[in-house]
Amino acid sequence: MKKVGLTTTIPVEVLITAKMIPIDLNNIFVTSNRAKEYIENAELEGFPRNLCSWIKGLFSVALENDINQIIGVYEGDCSNTGALLEVWRMKGHRVVPFAFPKGRNIEDMRREITSLMNAFNVTLEEVERVKRELHFIRKRVQYLDELTFRHNRATGFENHLWQVCCSDFNGDYRKFSEDLEEMITIIEGRQPREDEIRLGYIGVPPIFSNIYDTIEDCGARVVYNEVQRAFSMADFDIEDSIHHMYLNFTYPYGIEFRLEEIKRQIELRDLDGIIHYVQAFCYKGIEDIVVKHKLDIPILTIEGDLPGSLDARTRLRIESFIDMLKDRRF
Ligand code: SF4
Repeated sequence: MKKVGLTTTIPVEVLITAKMIPIDLNNIFVTSNRAKEYIENAELEGFPRNLCSWIKGLFSVALENDINQIIGVYEGDCSNTGALLEVWRMKGHRVVPFAFPKGRNIEDMRREITSLMNAFNVTLEEVERVKRELHFIRKRVQYLDELTFRHNRATGFENHLWQVCCSDFNGDYRKFSEDLEEMITIIEGRQPREDEIRLGYIGVPPIFSNIYDTIEDCGARVVYNEVQRAFSMADFDIEDSIHHMYLNFTYPYGIEFRLEEIKRQIELRDLDGIIHYVQAFCYKGIEDIVVKHKLDIPILTIEGDLPGSLDARTRLRIESFIDMLKDRRF
């Protein structure tokens, strides 16, 4: 089976139907012990120093792991992806473009998914069958989310990891499902956590390796991971069409659309505060202005640049934020 790299969540059902192995390049990059080397190698190829680390990491991961077919999201994700796709093409990679249409129009979404299905030679009926098969797994990921915010047994990192990995189901959805069931059994056996500060994490997934542990060391826990939860597509009904699912996926559709969902989750999960993560040199950092204006809850904005552990200053800011929330709550 051939590997296909992804720059973000796309209708993965199409690739699974085509018997391809989906590989989310972000997950490979951020979990690699060579992550910094990937960035340096991209800079040696000419990528600017003042460019988001994820873009440089994705570029090198595809190049250095023989992933020569890539689905690149050129609309609705990152303003840098278009140029990244050009460089991959120049290097001889097969690049299949995909867009989350700006207008959130069902006809445009149909056209995009049809074009993706044509590129991989699969039919809508076959894709819908796989969508139904994945639905069960997505619902189990949703249960793991409930084990986090309702039953208070799962950690913030577990919540992050299992949801974010729904972009590619770790390249093998059957194995993913088995591993998930094992994890759920372990989590169900734990005692519920009590007297914690409940945090939401919004923004792109963190480049820091130890942010969730640090937060828990300070007596708080992330019980809502915004973008990761969106990746799990767990809210959808089994009868929803694949077009409907990806049209209502919040991540690609701008901050106003995302904020409606974030506000619902703040209430549902009884959050004390929000950590808004922004990536250095990312245009999404500007959205922080809207986030702070529109959300009526304490917000700490933190910025990450390179992969690895939290720097001392950010760690201190997180500790102080949680202390302040404790003073408010207890
Ligand atoms: S963090 Fe921002 S700039 Fe970097 S890849 Fe993601 S959307 Fe693009």
